[in-house]
Amino acid sequence: MNQMTERKTIYITCISCPLGCSVEVHQKGNELELVGNRCKKGEEYVRQELTNPMRSITTTVRTSFHDFPRLSVKTDGEIPLKDIYLFMEEINTVEVSERLKPGALVKAHLRGSEVNLVATCDMSVVE
Ligand code: SF4
Repeated sequence: MNQMTERKTIYITCISCPLGCSVEVHQKGNELELVGNRCKKGEEYVRQELTNPMRSITTTVRTSFHDFPRLSVKTDGEIPLKDIYLFMEEINTVEVSERLKPGALVKAHLRGSEVNLVATCDMSVVE
């Protein structure tokens, strides 16, 4: 079969909502035919996943407190999956020097983007 007209089928689970539809994607050249998504959001998710997958980051950063050495954090938006290592390089340079509450800004505009790093843990609660 000619490679240009070869039809490929892949399966992707949509994670845009808790239903987690299994979407069958038939790819022929640049054309995509989707089967199994229950809504338009699922179609958008699959097309994004196949062209430029995006992810949120959840991780921890260093702090200057001995009783609370690592703070859990997350990005407040998604970044391209291919750039995760670049974002992590910057995140790994962060050291928190004040006790933060969940949602507090840890670092603004990661890598010059619109995405910020925020706290997901309450540093005032120490056991
Ligand atoms: S396709 Fe629609 S209904 Fe199915 S998991 Fe995705 S968002 Fe939910």
